[in-house]
Amino acid sequence: MDTLYLKYRPQKFEEIMWQDHVKKLFMNAIRSGKIAHSYLFSGPRGTGKTSVARIFAKSLNCENRVDGYEPCNVCESCKEIDAERSLDVIEMDAASNRGIDEIRAIRDRVVYLPSKSKYKIYIIDEVHMLTREAFNALLKTLEEPPESTIFILATTEIQKVPETVISRCQVLDFRRIPSINIRSKLETVCKNEGINYEIEALDHISSEAAGGMRDALSLLEEIARFSNNYITLSGTLSILGEGSTRMIESYVSSILEGNVDTLSTTIEMIEEEGVDLINFLENVVELASSRINDNGLTKIGKFAIDLIQLLKYEEKQFAFFKVMSIFEALKYKKDSNQFEKIEKVQPVNYEIKTVKSDVERLVDFYSKSGDLAIFSTLMQSDIKDRGDTILVISYVPIHNEILKSKAEQISEEFKSITSREVKFIFASSEIPLDKIEDDVREPIIKILSLFGGKVLPEGGEEVG
Ligand SMILES: [Zn+2]
Repeated sequence: MDTLYLKYRPQKFEEIMWQDHVKKLFMNAIRSGKIAHSYLFSGPRGTGKTSVARIFAKSLNCENRVDGYEPCNVCESCKEIDAERSLDVIEMDAASNRGIDEIRAIRDRVVYLPSKSKYKIYIIDEVHMLTREAFNALLKTLEEPPESTIFILATTEIQKVPETVISRCQVLDFRRIPSINIRSKLETVCKNEGINYEIEALDHISSEAAGGMRDALSLLEEIARFSNNYITLSGTLSILGEGSTRMIESYVSSILEGNVDTLSTTIEMIEEEGVDLINFLENVVELASSRINDNGLTKIGKFAIDLIQLLKYEEKQFAFFKVMSIFEALKYKKDSNQFEKIEKVQPVNYEIKTVKSDVERLVDFYSKSGDLAIFSTLMQSDIKDRGDTILVISYVPIHNEILKSKAEQISEEFKSITSREVKFIFASSEIPLDKIEDDVREPIIKILSLFGGKVLPEGGEEVG
């Protein structure tokens, strides 16, 4: 839903909000013809980085520049750039083209002169997402840039850009746009679009957007669509409340980036807002199914579906949601010791059982292979490796059911991981084993590992 954003995207420097230092620098550079070979734009999303990059590119190649620095927006070159069909202005999103091949393709192409314009300009957005190899290839190009080639790199996370790349670039910081400025832009847009509004609603949208114009306009558009063209504060609050788009997107993207810190913050927000978790996850599934070509998102969609099933049987829903989400995020984080990390983020009152080494390898396998049902039930069960048999005692009846239904799969996978052929016994207990006295516990375990079954509290009766 970026119609408004695209429609009101700035077309010249004059329309860029709040980045006066950036505007001034480019106006002077263009007027004096002193253009650097590579720029790095750093700042939060929606603050105008790619808009400025495009305006700058248009202006450099414009056939009839206005006032010495503004693009005319009507000449052939300006129109081609706007339509994204210019051969001399190449935009690339590093979030989806992270690899060395794309950068090599650029490196191979930069030796050719611009096809018909003065400059050949490469705009690489979210440059921090490039792989290390791709960065190295890029660096080579930045070190010996061809005369008429300009690189504009943009990032929301400059700390992830190698120092060697930063030092080759002129770095420009983009600031968050104050919400008062965002609000006045939203007012203008509403008036133009014939949308009625309560000013308090626009205030709320502006502060939700956290300094990003793009988010502000997307939110405005979303809310207008649901509000029958009259945006009220209460309507805005109810739309932005449960499972709001931004929370979902932040949840999904922090998992895909393996960013546990952002994920934890998002999860805290979800908790504070009292969001219904099942509802929230259903929205995640919906988001995933609306973008089926996005591989990462499809995986998160599957994860959300599994998690919804499991949450239905969980008493400590929130703690479970948190642990599972962080585990999922760790899968996307390279070189991390998952079990070490989980202990740090483990919420209070949520016990992660310790497991033995072969068993630990099995659990680790499931955490990576993605069978969430097996993984989470094993994590919450007591597992006793007794040589010939492995006894898995579950404390939640449905866990026992899940494990029994997957028994064959589990023993086969255990065999292929450890080369050990053992018999798995799945038992359940209504009493935590560590609450049972020592001299009784051992015989119980022995009996369970021979016959399976269920441990009931004294006086309890197995109902069949
Ligand atoms: Zn032009």
